[in-house]
Amino acid sequence: MPKRVYSFGGGKAEGKGTQRNLLGGKGSGLAEMAGLSLPVPAGFTITTEVCTEYNAHGKKLPAALTKDVEKAMAQVEKIMGRKFGDPNDPLLISCRSGARKSMPGMMETVLNIGLTGKTIAGLIAKTKNERFVLDSYRRLIQMYSDVVMEKAAGVEPAEGRGVRQQLEKELEKVKHEKGYKSDTDLTGDDLRNLIVAYKAKVKEVLGKEFPDDAGEQLWGGIKAVFQSWNGKRAISYRRIEGIPDEWGTAVNVQAMVFGNMGDTSATGVAFTRNPATGENLFYGEWLPNAQGEDVVAGIRTPNPLNEATRSSSAGDLPSLEKAMSATYTELVAVRNKLEKYYRDMQDLEFTIQDGKLWMLQTRSGKRNGPAAVRMAVDMVGERLIKKDEAVMRVTPAQLDELLHPILDPKAEQAGQALAKGLPAGPGGATGQVVFTAVDAVAWTQQGKKVILVREETNPEDVEGMRAAAGILTARGGMTSHAALVARGWGKCCIVGAGGIKVDVHARTFTAGGVTIKEGEWVSLNGTKGAFYQGQLPMVGNEDNPYFTQFMKICDGIRALGVRANADNPHDAAKARSFGAAGIGLFRTEHMFYGKGSEQPLFLLRKMICSSTADERRKALAELFAFIKSDVKGTLEAMAGLPVTIRLLDPPLHEFVPNREDERQKLAQALGISMEDLAKRADTLHESNPMMGHRGVRLGITYPEISETWVRAIFEAAAELLKAGKKAIPEIMIPVTCDKKELDHQAALVKKIHGEVAAKFGMKRIPYLYGTMIEIPRAALRAGEMAETAEFFSFGTNDLTQMTFGFSRDDIGGFAPDYIKAGILPADPFQTLDQSGVGELVELGIQRGRKRRPKLKVGICGEHGGDPESVKFCHRVGMNYVSCSPYRVPIARLAAAQAVVEGKAKKK
Ligand code: PEP
Ligand code: MG
Repeated sequence: MPKRVYSFGGGKAEGKGTQRNLLGGKGSGLAEMAGLSLPVPAGFTITTEVCTEYNAHGKKLPAALTKDVEKAMAQVEKIMGRKFGDPNDPLLISCRSGARKSMPGMMETVLNIGLTGKTIAGLIAKTKNERFVLDSYRRLIQMYSDVVMEKAAGVEPAEGRGVRQQLEKELEKVKHEKGYKSDTDLTGDDLRNLIVAYKAKVKEVLGKEFPDDAGEQLWGGIKAVFQSWNGKRAISYRRIEGIPDEWGTAVNVQAMVFGNMGDTSATGVAFTRNPATGENLFYGEWLPNAQGEDVVAGIRTPNPLNEATRSSSAGDLPSLEKAMSATYTELVAVRNKLEKYYRDMQDLEFTIQDGKLWMLQTRSGKRNGPAAVRMAVDMVGERLIKKDEAVMRVTPAQLDELLHPILDPKAEQAGQALAKGLPAGPGGATGQVVFTAVDAVAWTQQGKKVILVREETNPEDVEGMRAAAGILTARGGMTSHAALVARGWGKCCIVGAGGIKVDVHARTFTAGGVTIKEGEWVSLNGTKGAFYQGQLPMVGNEDNPYFTQFMKICDGIRALGVRANADNPHDAAKARSFGAAGIGLFRTEHMFYGKGSEQPLFLLRKMICSSTADERRKALAELFAFIKSDVKGTLEAMAGLPVTIRLLDPPLHEFVPNREDERQKLAQALGISMEDLAKRADTLHESNPMMGHRGVRLGITYPEISETWVRAIFEAAAELLKAGKKAIPEIMIPVTCDKKELDHQAALVKKIHGEVAAKFGMKRIPYLYGTMIEIPRAALRAGEMAETAEFFSFGTNDLTQMTFGFSRDDIGGFAPDYIKAGILPADPFQTLDQSGVGELVELGIQRGRKRRPKLKVGICGEHGGDPESVKFCHRVGMNYVSCSPYRVPIARLAAAQAVVEGKAKKK
């Protein structure tokens, strides 16, 4: 029978830090800390497997669990010297969730379990602190009725009518009547009355008495935590994060320690380094005389942990460093020990009971992109981790965040910040203000960019937070669950902006004397915590010294080259600045789209509408200068790095206008009749243009087209070489399926090369001749193709299209259904289908290299920038990947990770 319960405490633990899957993050962390003799209150973990059993057996716990729990509880009682349910000196416990991957605030917790009519008096006598006991009891009622009696029981109250909110109102009522500012102002008498009111309210709202039996409370708590695995927000979070439903949560039952015993007690959350910037400074928040949930629920803006990380919005709230300096020093020692032990930034929860420090949690802390990169670089510098580990510490998505834009600093300087809050998630964001999570989702679906403005950070808002471009809240701290989640997603987020007043009903908020209505634009600077009225411009974010250092580490490890897909000097320069080692795909037809394309497009159309080869040649001669200038500028920008230039690829009909007015304009400019133009367009019409007259087929039908492009490429290179510059053109033939096509075009390339070399008085213009592999037949006949081709570039967009027979332009119509039905794991045009299309790629490389061992091989389909696909390209032995300039750093990271993963596999 599997072991279902693992005990810890008293310097020992049955579980280990490596058993995350079984014990969850919290459970394995507690076991590890207990084993390290850190001050951990005794307890036990019920495994994630029990959660699965519970769900599989119609929400019933296995019968044998009762005995296991009783045994483990007896051990806790022994270590803590108190008994659960004992009327004279009761042990109180907490029930807390903990999945293998952290899901901050998405599941439930119940504290203070074991307080009943029988035990309250005993605890008061023992602690001589009536106020504390009553405060703990009212918290138990509040949490238990919400988590166990309402949520776990499947009761779905109307918005704002949940039992917790109703009890919250009772509390606010007392505070209001008495003129209290804080919960801690409530006296024993107030609490006594409040408890009576609470119990009545629970009965009224839920139709049941609050349970007065310690055992019933315990099992209610355990079940409710398991149940919360299938709570609404937990499910939403799992969908977003891709966490499988089968994992389940563990339940941690642990002896309570109290942060709410008076002014020498406190509770807090800390990160061993700043999770928003990565700075190596102990960062955290705490509240005196409070219980854990007060800090993370985002209801109160907590105090700073120390002076070094005090932010301006903390005002003169005392730091733990100043208020309880001895305990703070102890906490610093724990921080150092845990970081050294885990060799990673830890997220800690602690409670101070009457001056004594207790550790309640350690886990790898969530961080955003900039912080992940900085920590990885710093930790290598501190010799805490090796370079191989550093590259595994940053996900491609986190690196992507660093490249995201920020508010233009000049515009910020000119503007006036409306107010300031805590910089919970850096970067910039602008959007239209919405006030509910539902609106955030709906407006985003309509294609709008929104900023979600809320009174407090609340994990219930998870889907709205995901949809929003940025998040702004009036209350809450940096360690609140919602801030954590936002940061994990790299969202721009400001919390605890005390200077704003949110009126959800009126759909407005005021800040700095200005009222902002729903739909108005605001701009957030999540790095500084400042925000502005209006839509400020954004700029790129490339000057990050840690980014540069991190990329250097990646480059030192990776074997795969990384090039960019670029077709003009501007993009080429961008690609180089991102570290591209060349251009892997220059799509020459891009000169006919967008800015400045009017004239070349007209000449191309003139060529297309020509009725004789002679006319076509004339039009091509006019077009020549444009092609040459484009190619030359790009070759020059790449300063001697290789540039793969593809000959014309699309079917010609794509360039003939469809609109009547444009056709008229064209016919007039060409001096032909509308009928002639229509006739020409009709002959170009194809039923399956993607499988039609395109790519090399154009070059075979109209050799003069290929000749013009090839001549332009050689002349551009020759002119640069003559001027003492470097140029390495690689001529690439698209959409091929047979060696003879390649031979046909190779003869033409050779002829033009000879002519241009002679014209410039040169012996040779260095170049490579190669092909794209985009058709299954090309992959199969790769051996022969490699006799002529000096390089292959896998065009996996078309290769995917041709292999699956899925149209790359229409996949959106059915891909979601395929993914939902589990037929496809992902859109194969985004992530390479490694088993099918991948097999053709592997085969093509093997056959090609057999014939030409030094065959250079790359990929230039969209997959070249997808991390998983990049790793595949490394494994099958490609020389390089080529992707859009902005994806270049991501490909460099993925390539390094592929090497590290390969080493781990070998071991
Ligand atoms: C490809 O097919 O993968 C490719 C890079 O070419 P294009 O996307 O231009 O068809
Ligand atoms: Mg293609």
